Amino acid sequence: MHKSVWIVLCAIYSFSFSQKIDYKKFTEALCSSEFHGRGYVNQGDSLAANYIAQTFSQIGLLPINQSNYSYFQNFSFPVNTFPGEVSLQIDSSILLPGIHFLVDPSSGEYTGNLKLKFVSTSDLYNQRCVLNNWTDDHALIFRNYGFGGDTVTKIRQYLQQLASKIPIIEIVNTKLTWSVSQKKYSYPYIIVQDSVLKETPKSVSLKVDAQLVPVHTARNVIGYLPATKKNAKTLVFSAHYDHLGRMGNDVYFPGGNDNASGTAMLVFLANYFKKHGSKYNLVFMAFAGEEIGLLGSQYFVSNPLINLKDIRFLINLDIMGSGEDGITAVNGTLFEKEFLLLQKINKKQKALPIIKKRGPAANSDHFYFTQAGVPGFFIYTMGPNKNYHDINDTYENLSFKAFEKIGELLIAFTQKLN
Ligand SMILES: [Zn+2]
Repeated sequence: MHKSVWIVLCAIYSFSFSQKIDYKKFTEALCSSEFHGRGYVNQGDSLAANYIAQTFSQIGLLPINQSNYSYFQNFSFPVNTFPGEVSLQIDSSILLPGIHFLVDPSSGEYTGNLKLKFVSTSDLYNQRCVLNNWTDDHALIFRNYGFGGDTVTKIRQYLQQLASKIPIIEIVNTKLTWSVSQKKYSYPYIIVQDSVLKETPKSVSLKVDAQLVPVHTARNVIGYLPATKKNAKTLVFSAHYDHLGRMGNDVYFPGGNDNASGTAMLVFLANYFKKHGSKYNLVFMAFAGEEIGLLGSQYFVSNPLINLKDIRFLINLDIMGSGEDGITAVNGTLFEKEFLLLQKINKKQKALPIIKKRGPAANSDHFYFTQAGVPGFFIYTMGPNKNYHDINDTYENLSFKAFEKIGELLIAFTQKLN
């Protein structure tokens, strides 16, 4: 189709068919099993990308990529996945994945039975000694708790190194928190919650289907709304939509707070500005690949589809589902003027109990923008919902306590920012 015809059609479409999207229903959909935790099994992330692009189009946002009229920006990376069976029996007890145990994100595959061998901390630090006395029918098991300082982290690093040579079972006494990895060990690495072990474990029956996908293609989804005036600067709202995906057939991580909620805030804001307009060009960026290392936003900053110098301010939204205890603005100490504006509006609107400020941190998708000299905040909510990177981070566990108030705060911020 000729470009100008397409632009006219786009314009007609966006004026006549723009539609307000219910942000709660949108959040619930993103959290559903249909999207497999928006990760890497069954193309969950790509299915979510399609759904978000469709939603942007329904609201009436224009696609960012004018050369091919697409909302998508593709990029790729390796990722370790668990597409099949994940099961663990310790002695006579069958353990539940996601509740009693996790597979380390870099775990290798395994099928079979293993005897368990405990080692002392000093033996663990002497890898050669451990390996010299090893036989193939054993897994190393280690209680990694009760140590001071950063010893637990250090021990985990030793165990992870060993997983290139032997099967590992790490026992922890803290909450199980999952993540996602770009690499795969040669052997399985299982993390078991101590409270489910009744006596000293002697053997395991283990099945882990792990597959390293060397080139996974993911997609940022980006829509925009032109300003009501010409020659306007640009304001960016960003949120990652990816999460951790599936850990086997039975378990997926819904990522309600992290970050279906932030993606829903893009929808809330887009609904408003589509109807009321803005003095800034507004770009809504839904990033992929955040959980695996901020890869989507890093790719955008290296391959920008808009001039980064035109961005007046960026607001990255991650964990928007609570807010009982207010919000934090990362980079709040860096951009004092904008932080004071946010506080002033908050005071006037009586929106949130507190807005805290923090220095720069590489903890979400604002980071590479900050590095590239784009001013911006990363805003997250604080509250009693502590479900994080676990199977309980569900839609049902979101309070949305401050959601609309934050949305209104950001709308006023956009209107008042010079
Ligand atoms: Zn997140």
